[in-house]
Amino acid sequence: MKQLQGKVCLVTGGTRGIGRAIALSMAEAGADIAFNYERSSEKAEEICHEVTALGVRCRAFAVNVTSVEEVNRMVQEVNDSLGPISIVINNAGITRDRTFLKMTKEQWDEVMHVNLDGVFNVTHAALPFMINLGWGRIINISSFVGLTGNFGQTNYAVTKGGINSFTMALARETARKGITVNSVAPGFIATDMTKEVPPSVLDQVRAMTPVGRLGNPEEVADAVAFLASPRAGYITGQVLSVNGGIYM
Ligand code: NDP
Repeated sequence: MKQLQGKVCLVTGGTRGIGRAIALSMAEAGADIAFNYERSSEKAEEICHEVTALGVRCRAFAVNVTSVEEVNRMVQEVNDSLGPISIVINNAGITRDRTFLKMTKEQWDEVMHVNLDGVFNVTHAALPFMINLGWGRIINISSFVGLTGNFGQTNYAVTKGGINSFTMALARETARKGITVNSVAPGFIATDMTKEVPPSVLDQVRAMTPVGRLGNPEEVADAVAFLASPRAGYITGQVLSVNGGIYM
């Protein structure tokens, strides 16, 4: 029997990059998959095909994580169609990079709304189902930037540091209920998000990274799949870095 057979997993931002890799690796482990996205409807269909080819069920939702109503509706629909969610992967995230004085309040707010309010909305809606089941896994995708800060990313760094603190606080509240809460903090991973980074900066990143390259989404997804598995039941409130050694 596969490790996550019979579990229902919700991945936010499952259409691209790290979220797509997570959806596929959780499906490989046997979980039924629900994921959401903001705009990429065509990609969502493709990914659901890939997921169902692995022998599990899939539902995709065009739901913005910033909307409490949409998120609540999605979580209820997942419950009605697939069953109660016992694994949440809070992955959806955006950047709006500017040095601090050039950053607008809109850029600040946008990143807070998606990266932090999104985590609140999704976790708040799904947690009661896990409490009823007496078992759950919440895995939040933060970033090494939440541990180190980064030039031009005050807004993003706040959200990722916040996600790590949220992880520790919620882990304390849920541990006795059979629910673990952990963060995975990737370094630079080759996705659409890092395509926006100038090539000269990526060369510097490779030079600064002990393994000498960017990571790939599957390497992050493997860490997530481990934390979601029954084998990780004694790991909670942790930030697991998957960063090629760029921060240690
Ligand atoms: P991508 O930009 O490649 O993909 C982002 C995903 O999030 C897409 O599926 C997108 O949907 C979805 N999304 C964005 N905004 C919303 C929203 N408001 N509501 C619902 N879905 C939304 O990102 P990555 O795969 O690179 O990053 C994934 C996570 O990993 C993020 O939290 C990021 O901060 C973190 N991370 C990434 C690193 C990297 O180097 N790439 C490093 C460290 C952390 P759609 O396709 O519809 O736009």
